[in-house]
Amino acid sequence: MIKVKNLTKTYVRNKALDNISFSLNEGDILGFLGPNGAGKSTTMNIITGYLSADSGTIEIDGTDIIENPTLAKKKIGYLPEIPPLYNDMTVQGYLEFMFKLKKVKLPMKEHIATICDMVKITDVKGRIIKYLSKGYRQRVGLAQALLGEPPVLILDEPTVGLDPQQIIEIRKLIRELGKKHTVILSSHLLSEVQAVCDKIIIINNGKIVTSGNTDELTATGKATARMQLVIEGRMQSVYSVLERIDGVTRVDEHGECEKGCYEYFIESSRDVRRLVFRAFAKTDYNILSMKPVSVSLEDTYLDIISGKTEGVNNNVSDI
Ligand code: ADP
Ligand code: MG
Repeated sequence: MIKVKNLTKTYVRNKALDNISFSLNEGDILGFLGPNGAGKSTTMNIITGYLSADSGTIEIDGTDIIENPTLAKKKIGYLPEIPPLYNDMTVQGYLEFMFKLKKVKLPMKEHIATICDMVKITDVKGRIIKYLSKGYRQRVGLAQALLGEPPVLILDEPTVGLDPQQIIEIRKLIRELGKKHTVILSSHLLSEVQAVCDKIIIINNGKIVTSGNTDELTATGKATARMQLVIEGRMQSVYSVLERIDGVTRVDEHGECEKGCYEYFIESSRDVRRLVFRAFAKTDYNILSMKPVSVSLEDTYLDIISGKTEGVNNNVSDI
């Protein structure tokens, strides 16, 4: 349904996108996850044809956005970061105006009524947009994106600025829309893409860092077992006992936490709890605590946000 190949974009001296490639099948909900400035909006603006790329190609349902922009744009409903609302219009007036602007060929009143029901704004149809709450304004933005029944929906940070209740409602609505549309949604919140999307692309510094199915990515972290240990005894000696345990791939010492006791983090290719216990039973050192810590997608994302992980260009062509 969507094929993005080798997108590159430079703003003056700033390389915002560096060789981004991915593809999506019909009905997928893709979460585009990354910290501020990662390149999410730039990518979305290029996919929707509002911004041109320096190089790369985009196909929407078989239509090239550069060769046939009018047809490609008809296949996309776009909710930009700041929804393009006309504050002095009523909701109904605005949707009729956008309907005509988009040259939609459906029965107008009926089509708008259906969309308003879907995004639950029927009761505010006669209200002036500027007096609506942020949650309702976001729904009106969504309604605008749905005009003309486009198969693809692109939503740039659709829950930013909403209160928790509104966030829950918009996420539910997006999941609902995902049943009939191919959706790309951007967010800087991992929990959001995990809750809503079945595929995730993590982007940082204009490059794809990780991509895959949400379930797989969430499970990947668990392939490496990680444990936090507090052990009483001389640090160097304890360290070398830990290092020698079969299956342990990494030992990090995190300092003295109580007198004579040190905290360690170990990584292993499998569950080594019993081996650790037995190894220390043979020594004079005492294990005071042993706690498995999961390496989640969250840890990966936190490393990205804190700058520990740079963007890597793995040029993913299919996820
Ligand atoms: P995101 O949506 O992930 O926060 P953006 O796509 O908005 O990221 O921005 C990506 C990078 O491009 C950032 O470094 C940002 O400062 C830069 N950028 C975005 N828009 C412009 C612009 N119009 N002119 C110059 N630089 C820009
Ligand atoms: Mg943005």
